[in-house]
Amino acid sequence: MSRHIFVTGGVVSSLGKGLTSASIGMLLERRGLTVRMQKLDPYLNVDPGTMSPYQHGEVYVLDDGSETDLDLGHYERFTSGTLNRHSNYTTGQIYLSVIEKERRGEYLGHTVQVVPHITDEIKASILSLATPDVDVVITEIGGTVGDIEGLPFLEAIRQIPLDIGKENVMFIHLTLVPYLKAAREAKTKPTQHSVQQLRGIGIQPDILIVRTERPIGREHTDKIALFCNVEKKAVIEEVDKEFSIYEVPIGLIEHGLDELICQKLHLNAGPLKMDDYRQLVHRIRNPRNEVTIAVVGKYIEHRDAYKSIYESLDHAGFAHSTQINVKRIEAEELERQEPELLLKGIDGLLIPGGFGMRGIEGKIQAIQFAREAEIPFFGVCLGMQCAVIEFARHVLGLADANSSEFSSDTPHAVICLLEGQKGIRYKGGTMRLGAQPCVLTPGTRTATAYNATEISERHRHRYEFNPDYRKQFSDAGMTIAGTSPDGGLVEIVELATHPWFVAVQYHPEFKSQPHNAHPLFKGFIEAALKRRLQRGSSIMTGTVQSE
Ligand code: GLN
Repeated sequence: MSRHIFVTGGVVSSLGKGLTSASIGMLLERRGLTVRMQKLDPYLNVDPGTMSPYQHGEVYVLDDGSETDLDLGHYERFTSGTLNRHSNYTTGQIYLSVIEKERRGEYLGHTVQVVPHITDEIKASILSLATPDVDVVITEIGGTVGDIEGLPFLEAIRQIPLDIGKENVMFIHLTLVPYLKAAREAKTKPTQHSVQQLRGIGIQPDILIVRTERPIGREHTDKIALFCNVEKKAVIEEVDKEFSIYEVPIGLIEHGLDELICQKLHLNAGPLKMDDYRQLVHRIRNPRNEVTIAVVGKYIEHRDAYKSIYESLDHAGFAHSTQINVKRIEAEELERQEPELLLKGIDGLLIPGGFGMRGIEGKIQAIQFAREAEIPFFGVCLGMQCAVIEFARHVLGLADANSSEFSSDTPHAVICLLEGQKGIRYKGGTMRLGAQPCVLTPGTRTATAYNATEISERHRHRYEFNPDYRKQFSDAGMTIAGTSPDGGLVEIVELATHPWFVAVQYHPEFKSQPHNAHPLFKGFIEAALKRRLQRGSSIMTGTVQSE
């Protein structure tokens, strides 16, 4: 029978609940268990696909085309279990399903209520992951205890031990212990209040993970244990990591978290195998080189808007023992200032995905600068579309070339609406989404990087490279390096005469892992490093850190 771990959060949001849940998943997998990860989001949107990155951060896309919360990115980077549309439910989806059932008459004769109908629907979505091959389902509840909209989710998970036996369920609660400078003391009261609130709902946490900026020591964790009715050894401090989020699992092992979980849930687990992971963390802490990569985007001040892009750059850095210094540049800045000034000293330029025309001209100027100055360039989705527009305008001489997303009357719509998108009216979940096969052109930089002829990558877009212009581009030196298997859709372009200029219509950042960097990110960072070494002064001079 599958066991269930529920991860809740209290005191404040942004505690890194997703990261901690993913780390727990990793530790259990590395003890030989089969784990499934799930996130329940209390907001009313059916999925985050229609939300602004300012509101929500990145929309993370799965193979099956689900548009999900960015925490699922952490899950895929830390664990290996399959994720699909059942891995992320929102209040919107739960209510939609219940209301559709009500309309079909499935509750005939009954008043449809939050308890039991909504809570039953939530429980069903959790229990659906507990298939016979799964040892542990880890379900993270979004938001913070005390939020009105989170209540049905907490009520549902409160009921689960009654349904499947309390020996099969475990509650882990994450809180914050702030350090008050004026009092020169760490404060446990917010944690006490948060656990009181949770116990008021009927949930007694088995383990408390307290996030802190600096170590708080046994005295404080023992006090928390006493006031929160939790065993002393089950109060674990998780101190901010100095170098990288990938150190989180190591910190949790030091406090014996994996063993605590295995004992409490009577899991028949093997020994923890972390040697290769410890080596990775050692590499992360001891880079030999560094490069500076400019990321030019529209939501650049929001740290989570391009989450997987930044993580993938880091993964490629780990592969080359190179520290990645990201220079985040607001695209509109490039419309006000010379690209030479803003992009001075960079070793590579990356333009990520996006929607809408704000900042497009700045992105195009940045790409022109990178193409002409032979700076490694990587375009992702909208970044690829901008590279195509730039090439059309400045190499093919089609001065007004544009995407029909940004200009409906351009004489040269080198990027145009996908055929299948033309009749679409509903905005939610209707883009070209999820894993699509792509055939690579032999001999291209991309084919060499992947060392494959056919690949599968995840998509999220409505526009495409206009096939009418293919010949013009190829003749002028922009190689079509990958297409859909029927040859109809251009998925990858590159420039053979440039040191490294690759742009893809899909999102490679959704398939990169810390120990398995994506081949294109790896190739991009290798090219950036080469440029840096040619210019001299890439070797790190800082002190070497041991793990
Ligand atoms: N806005 C573009 C399109 O819909 C690019 C999308 C993206 O970058 N994800 O095609």
